[in-house]
Amino acid sequence: MLLASRSFDRWEVFVSTLFTSFVLLFLLIVLAVVATALVIAIIRSRRRERAVAAEREKARLAKLRPDGLPFPPHGRGMCAACGKASEKVYFLGDGRRLCPRCYESLEMNAAAPAVSAGGEG
Ligand SMILES: [Zn+2]
Repeated sequence: MLLASRSFDRWEVFVSTLFTSFVLLFLLIVLAVVATALVIAIIRSRRRERAVAAEREKARLAKLRPDGLPFPPHGRGMCAACGKASEKVYFLGDGRRLCPRCYESLEMNAAAPAVSAGGEG
């Protein structure tokens, strides 16, 4: 009887130690997961910031034509010259919409810049 109760105590100690170590292990795993998620989030946000900066620089350069003048505003639409729907058409000052190809040929035909900030008094 004494032996049995002593072994029961040991068993209880063993179970409680096991439980405690499981709880500790669980907390450690949770901490590791949180830390990993945090590190991944930081890396991603840095990468995104870098990508945004690169894209901004690219967009800034794309807004300028080779001669240094800015392109007219653009958006999705239909080209007035070739009639094709395009992801990028330039909105000219006179209301026409031209795809990049037609805009380029227009630029070649009329050497004068199409984007003149006309000041009508
Ligand atoms: Zn076109």
